[in-house]
Amino acid sequence: MTPKRFDVLTIFPGMFGAICGAGVVGRGVERGLLEIHTHDLRDFTHDRHRQVDDAPFGGGAGMVFKPEPIFEAVEKVRRDNQGPVILMEPWGEPLSQELAAELAAEPGLVIVCGRYEGVDDRVRLGLEAREVSIGNYVLSGAELPAMVLIDAVARLVPGVVGDPESLDQDSFTAEFGGYPQFTRPAEYRGMKVPEVLLSGDHRRIREWRMAAARQRAATMERKQ
Ligand code: SAH
Repeated sequence: MTPKRFDVLTIFPGMFGAICGAGVVGRGVERGLLEIHTHDLRDFTHDRHRQVDDAPFGGGAGMVFKPEPIFEAVEKVRRDNQGPVILMEPWGEPLSQELAAELAAEPGLVIVCGRYEGVDDRVRLGLEAREVSIGNYVLSGAELPAMVLIDAVARLVPGVVGDPESLDQDSFTAEFGGYPQFTRPAEYRGMKVPEVLLSGDHRRIREWRMAAARQRAATMERKQ
């Protein structure tokens, strides 16, 4: 099987060490199921100052990513990655489990990380980039959002999560996800694990979990 390939265009490639070397994603990379390639956008500039940004036309605060380094970087990675171009943006399509599954079916992803006031809109138009948001709040750059996207997609790549049953149990995938979990000891600081979970009665355990998940969902809805 060819590994799922992520190509990330960023001015901070070093930040991606945070996911490449640890946990489920790190293991996926180690076992050759995933490839995460970072590309420094400054390597695609042609001036002495390696400038990736410029002042916005029309005025306004801050700087905007120039289109040229991004187009040139995408053209370079195209040889190895035929997946869609994803542009992380706060106003984009909200990242959901459904979208993660859709993107996991692609041969790879090319992820563009903006910073400053954003990215020249010709990147979206010319590269037919799909804009994706990780939530309704503004971060200072797209590196953390890109890592969130990579993690959500990577764990759906076959073999990355060791026990496939744990994917079926995920919140948003399972018929009822998000029930409270407990492990040993059965009593801790006066707090007891619900008796039913120690009973070994799988039908009752299932019923208890379903009810607990429903209750948790209702509590969360009230908070939203
Ligand atoms: N002025 C912009 C914010 C730019 S933040 C605005 O008002 O929307 C700088 C960059 O961080 C963005 O271009 C985007 O690439 C990234 N970013 C910030 N918040 C994000 C979010 N919630 N989801 C995805 N990307 C985000």
